[in-house]
Amino acid sequence: MNSNKLYPRRILIIVLTILIVSLYIIRLFYLQILNPNYKAEADNNAFYQKALYPARGIISDREGNIMVYNKATYDLMITMREVTQLDTLDLCKTLNIEPKLFVERLNKIKDRKLNPGYSPFVPQILVSQLEAPEAGRFQEKLYKFPGFAIRSRTLREYEYHCAANILGYLSEADPRDLENDSSLVAGDYIGKTGIEKSYEKYLRGEKGVEVLLRDARGRIKGKYQNGAHDKPYVLGHDLTLGIDANLQTFGEELMRGKRGAIVAIEPSSGEILCMVSSPSYDPALLTGKEKGVNLRQLANIPGKPLYDRSIMGYYPPGSTFKPSQGAIFLQEGVLSPSTALSCYHGFPPLHSRPKCHSHPSPVSLVPALATSCNAYFCWGLRFMLDNRQYYPNVQVAFEHWKQHMVQLGFGYKLGIDLPNERRGYIPNAKVYDKLYKGRWNSSSIISIAIGQGEISATPMQMANLATIIANRGFFYTPHVVKKIEGFPLDTAYTTLRDSHIKASIWEYIAEGMAKAVTNGTCRNANFAPGEIEVCGKTGTAQNPHGKDNSAFIGFAPKDHPKIAVCVYVENGGFGATIGVPIGRCIIEYYLRHGKLSPATEAIAERMKHLYIGYKDEIYKINKKSDSQLPVREQDNHNNKETIKREETEESESTKQINPTENGQKE
Ligand SMILES: [Zn+2]
Repeated sequence: MNSNKLYPRRILIIVLTILIVSLYIIRLFYLQILNPNYKAEADNNAFYQKALYPARGIISDREGNIMVYNKATYDLMITMREVTQLDTLDLCKTLNIEPKLFVERLNKIKDRKLNPGYSPFVPQILVSQLEAPEAGRFQEKLYKFPGFAIRSRTLREYEYHCAANILGYLSEADPRDLENDSSLVAGDYIGKTGIEKSYEKYLRGEKGVEVLLRDARGRIKGKYQNGAHDKPYVLGHDLTLGIDANLQTFGEELMRGKRGAIVAIEPSSGEILCMVSSPSYDPALLTGKEKGVNLRQLANIPGKPLYDRSIMGYYPPGSTFKPSQGAIFLQEGVLSPSTALSCYHGFPPLHSRPKCHSHPSPVSLVPALATSCNAYFCWGLRFMLDNRQYYPNVQVAFEHWKQHMVQLGFGYKLGIDLPNERRGYIPNAKVYDKLYKGRWNSSSIISIAIGQGEISATPMQMANLATIIANRGFFYTPHVVKKIEGFPLDTAYTTLRDSHIKASIWEYIAEGMAKAVTNGTCRNANFAPGEIEVCGKTGTAQNPHGKDNSAFIGFAPKDHPKIAVCVYVENGGFGATIGVPIGRCIIEYYLRHGKLSPATEAIAERMKHLYIGYKDEIYKINKKSDSQLPVREQDNHNNKETIKREETEESESTKQINPTENGQKE
């Protein structure tokens, strides 16, 4: 009776007991087997995985000259859990740092917000970049400081004091980098700009690991299973650039005291031979202990040396744009090579605006390019946009025009292998519809025919136009890296891009540019008459902030060209006064392997010492190289910063437009 009454209760107790025990087992199973955190923590207690850092890839120029290599440096590491006793004063004395600083640094390391990868079991960087003697001194006293260790690492060193923006610099990975790349740990260095950034995955190599065993108190006891679980590192891959380091250095010297850019490209490959942005700086400023200070100083200099004008500068191309216009008008069939058009010191239909200079009239394409006649190209735009036989309305005609510009590499990023390239600006018909409330024609926007008005381009895009003409109608996306050790180049840099304009048309354009050098606006570029045929086109573009910008595009030799170049100097005045002589120096230097003729040598000397006064430029910085001296101040100009504000990518129709009157000079 009693036992019968108790029976259900007993069952209940048994069931409950089984339930509780099961819950415990499940929880334990979860904690120890399923939960990776717990497992990792347990492993961390038993093992210490020591990272082995490979040397970063070496960077050489196109001639095989080493530009960037590695130097050993030492970091002092701390593993919190292993610090059993610590004489802070003794430590700080050995390291020659303030105790206050030491405490601050410790707190930063332990702050998981600042240092998400923090674990008391994982070594953290306490002091970075110790010199060899400092590291050696500390190494001797390491026995006094359990939990501390010296780790060797490599630091970038530079053989040439040029090409800072191309090469870029390294920085410690920030929290976002750590989040995006699981192979990184706090304290790792990665490329932040330039090719150090864009080729990071090749340059870095792969970290290796050494698995060490700890005892119950966390002390390292030696290799785990004799290194059976170790993983060797993979060295970083070397890069060979298309850049000629000597040409780059020479270009930076020529641009001393001026703001602007020089871009030179090998037409047959799209390899960038030099890419100067001025003012420039010594890349060695951004390596080593002074990096932070130097970076802040460089960021605050008025000339903005960290801003790479060659791929970021938005400039009106001026008359260097005319070859592209001539080619489009011929391809569209609105002009023929023999069409001769009148010019009476300007474009006749608009009362001689834009203006032009004295030259015989009428002119056909070749002399129009040679003399840089403004009226000729305005006529061309008029014949295209106002042509109701070929196009139903101005909008359609304009979109045809724009399509050609895009195929010539304008209006969008070219896609070069560096971060931060910008797209320049070519408006579309909607922009003008909005601006002129739907009623507009060629006269409304005539200045674009001569590379002014709403359009803007980067020096890289202008150099690319010279490349297209040099190749008579095609190009490869310009690129800085020529070869990656063990890997092929991205096909983006080996795929031919067509201009969709006939080669025979480009032949006329090249002829016009050759005539500009023999007896037109670029005569000063004719450095070897009868020997090397040079093709060129000047540009003088209005700059709302002072004196005109001076520009030049060209290539040489005319047949089988080896180099295409763009020179762009802010507030340089006429294209012929600065753009052409610098272009000449670059072309001759490259074609003659650095051996300049006496005449060009004299021009180069004059250019190196020609300073343009930019009012805002008064600064001093601890430069490591004399070749990068800042421009000096003069009072004869009142120029303001000419760099345009960043426009929102892909939103061209929202851009503010200021139609300008054009008094184009040449
Ligand atoms: Zn003219």
